[in-house]
Amino acid sequence: MKLKEYIGKELFRKYGINVPNGVLVRSLSDLGNVETIKAEELVVKAQVLVGGRGKAGGIRTAKRPELRMVVSGMLGSMLKGEKISEVLVEEKLRIDRELYLSFVVNRAEKNFSLVFSESGGVDIEETAEKHPDKIVRVGLLDFDESIIKNIPNITGIGDLISRLYKLFRENDCQLAEINPLVVSKNILIAADAKIIIDDNALYRHPEFNVKTEELTELEDMAKKSGLQYVELDGNIAVIGNGAGLVMATLDMINHFGGKPANFLDVGGGASVEQMELAIRIALMKKPKALFINIFGGITRCDEIAQGISNYKSRNRIEIPMVVRMIGTNEEMGRKILEENKIHSIDTMEEGARKVVELAK
Ligand code: GDP
Ligand code: MN
Repeated sequence: MKLKEYIGKELFRKYGINVPNGVLVRSLSDLGNVETIKAEELVVKAQVLVGGRGKAGGIRTAKRPELRMVVSGMLGSMLKGEKISEVLVEEKLRIDRELYLSFVVNRAEKNFSLVFSESGGVDIEETAEKHPDKIVRVGLLDFDESIIKNIPNITGIGDLISRLYKLFRENDCQLAEINPLVVSKNILIAADAKIIIDDNALYRHPEFNVKTEELTELEDMAKKSGLQYVELDGNIAVIGNGAGLVMATLDMINHFGGKPANFLDVGGGASVEQMELAIRIALMKKPKALFINIFGGITRCDEIAQGISNYKSRNRIEIPMVVRMIGTNEEMGRKILEENKIHSIDTMEEGARKVVELAK
């Protein structure tokens, strides 16, 4: 999960890494708080998750009298397809140098990389491509003072690197990046923050989850109930259990010329209630047909069947539904479905072909 800049900077502050004075502004009424910043000139930064904001117009400078205008122009507008609902207003730094510093998980080498460059700033990608010699990379498995030998001697850099490393590890980051790392009057200041937390470790960091994750209402509802829900843009809703089966189901639907509207992975051991909720969520986007594809392992077909039946008895399902269900307690499940006049199909191919036909 990517963290927005201001959340990354809160984290920096917590680890003793210098950041500019700033306040988060969500509406013009928050502008009063900017009084606490004593600088003449300010920088207004769109809090969106897309990169390259500087080049796309998401970073503006403003003198105090212009601030309201600049902020009102940004709030609510779009930046590279993302709506700006928050801006960070900061003191404008005097930039003497722009450096680059990051820690990143290096999967290929099964270690971490410290990456540093004296040519930081918005053109770092270009530098990496055209002048790779200007970028220092050091592989490491744990922190030790000796890695700093590889970095040019800049006042405060060793201390900063060890703080960033601590932050990187303690927060299960995939990336902790400062670009630009600004040298301003001989002090190192993190002018930007880009932090990606490993999704598989998010359960250890509920503090990020609540504050920053931007899910659609449906995705949020699904997540809170232990379901994985992803919206797509076709017209066939898909419910399955297990990522592999769900992916195969999507492929199969595509193979027969259909387009999935969304998918819900009910995971292993879905309960009757979860199954009911899954159907409710899957149908909210008004698909043309629903395909339920369950391979019972720890998931029991009778529970799934009961969930489907309960949903059907309490709601009108106005679109065709295709159910394919095999595995644990299959017979019991099929009986429950039959009692509720729900037909089920034996193979995934047959089910996918049928649902594509019915969605037409
Ligand atoms: P990004 O483009 O999304 O990575 O946004 P950054 O926060 O890195 O800002 C892009 C560029 O804006 C930086 O490289 C700086 O050149 C400039 N910038 C950002 N903050 C300041 C500031 O406080 N003072 C000055 N002079 N420039 C800034
Ligand atoms: Mn940046």
